Amino acid sequence: MDIQHTNLLIIGGGPGGYVAAIRAAQLGIATTLVEGEQLGGTCLNVGCIPSKALIHAADAFAQAHHFMGDSTLGIHVEKARIDISQTVRWKDGIVARLTGGVGALLKKHGVKVVKGWAQIVDGKTVDVTLDKPGAEPMRIQGEHIILATGSVELGLPGMPFGGRVISSTQALSPDKIPAKLVVVGGGYIGLELGCAYRKLGSDVTVVEAQDRILPLYDEELTKPVAASLRKLGIQVHLGSKVQGLNAAGDAVRVVDANGRDSEIAADQVLVAIGRVPHTHGWGLEKLMLAMQGRAVKVDDQCRTSMRNVWAIGDLSGEPMLAHRAMAQGEMVAEIISGKRRHFVPAAIAAVCFTDPEVVVVGQTPAEAAKAGLECITAQFPFAANGRAMTLEATDGFVRVVARRDNHRIVGWQAVGAAVSELSTAFSQSIEMGACLEDVAGTIHAHPTLGEAVQEAALRALGHALHI
Ligand SMILES: Cc1cc2nc3c(=O)[nH]c(=O)nc-3n(C[C@H](O)[C@H](O)[C@H](O)COP(=O)(O)OP(=O)(O)OC[C@H]3O[C@@H](n4cnc5c(N)ncnc54)[C@H](O)[C@@H]3O)c2cc1C
Repeated sequence: MDIQHTNLLIIGGGPGGYVAAIRAAQLGIATTLVEGEQLGGTCLNVGCIPSKALIHAADAFAQAHHFMGDSTLGIHVEKARIDISQTVRWKDGIVARLTGGVGALLKKHGVKVVKGWAQIVDGKTVDVTLDKPGAEPMRIQGEHIILATGSVELGLPGMPFGGRVISSTQALSPDKIPAKLVVVGGGYIGLELGCAYRKLGSDVTVVEAQDRILPLYDEELTKPVAASLRKLGIQVHLGSKVQGLNAAGDAVRVVDANGRDSEIAADQVLVAIGRVPHTHGWGLEKLMLAMQGRAVKVDDQCRTSMRNVWAIGDLSGEPMLAHRAMAQGEMVAEIISGKRRHFVPAAIAAVCFTDPEVVVVGQTPAEAAKAGLECITAQFPFAANGRAMTLEATDGFVRVVARRDNHRIVGWQAVGAAVSELSTAFSQSIEMGACLEDVAGTIHAHPTLGEAVQEAALRALGHALHI
């Protein structure tokens, strides 16, 4: 068998793997990237980007629909109509542009991209089944291997994917909008897609096993989301577990916290109960790496328990987010090139693109208290922000958490329309070690939602101006 040699071999071309490849090539490291499906991984193909495209289309449609009734803005639409196949083509166009762009960047930097599935042979070698009919498998050896195989959707025992039971991947490419959609899982993926489908016209019911939606988020932040779900007409069953489909296959069997059974009619069932590291089916077990739960265990440089074998992104566990995967990929490439780097971010933003959006960066008041920090907490409502009024988006607030002794900011949280865009300012202030006075003393452009960030800091100092 023909053996190809490289300095760095990367398995998986998602945001972790492709960013590692670009940075390594920039640093002069001969790099080969093996990808079994499409460059861009889950994020660009069936995750972050297509979901946000669908959410945007659903918002635009809901807005058009809204203008069919009485409108305070004086806008009237005769009849709002959506051609969902055109929406999906538009979304696919964005995905194609971005994945094509990743391919072009890899080529520009001289990364060798091999299209096929990698199987581990040993800690330096993989065999690749090429995505070409009749092609012989290719053996590749690398001085270093970065494992970046991402994560896979968790299915429900007793209700496998197929037929009416779909995953987020299918939900992102609908050929028609189901009249009745049951979403299993009230986490961010289930709620983002549930809100979008409701706005596209489905009757949506969310079934969540815990006693509140977005169970991983601070409860106060999730209240405006719960209120919005009610306003949208989304039914939410909390503390309820899905048992499977009924005998006719047209309803979901649910048991509530009191043990009562019921059925919820469903044309489609979206199972969004979480994702797990993609550790099976590609020979990972041969390396006998130390694991942490279901993820590959890594240290603060993304080293695994085997020398020169690195793991990044979702494969290395929570938080499973694209920006974390990218940051790890960039760092590992730099370490391999000889730079001194450690993965010790002060905070990694988590954003939920529900309606309204939720952002959490750093510590919540409860987390800070648990860590033994005495903190000041202040909140500024969008109801007192001029820009929010002009956007008809006065629900929600920005909250800051800062140490009482030196005013150093340890956390930001926000809920409201478009607050995802505030995550940059939140992350920067925490990463740069900003104090309340730094944010309060920065001139924030008017009129912007960002003024609520400054006002939250001012309020924590006891002298907010606009409340
Ligand atoms: C619906 C949805 C919405 C999301 N929204 C967001 C969001 O808004 N923000 C956010 O930060 N994150 C979001 N995520 C999560 C985000 O997509 C992941 O955290 C991110 O893609 C992880 O990157 P990765 O590089 O670790 O893995 P992946 O993106 O999963 O890429 C792994 C790649 O490895 C390839 N691969 C696997 N095994 C092999 C093999 N043996 N040989 C060759 N190739 C292989 C796969 O084909 C895949 O392309 C979302 C996920 C979903 C499902």
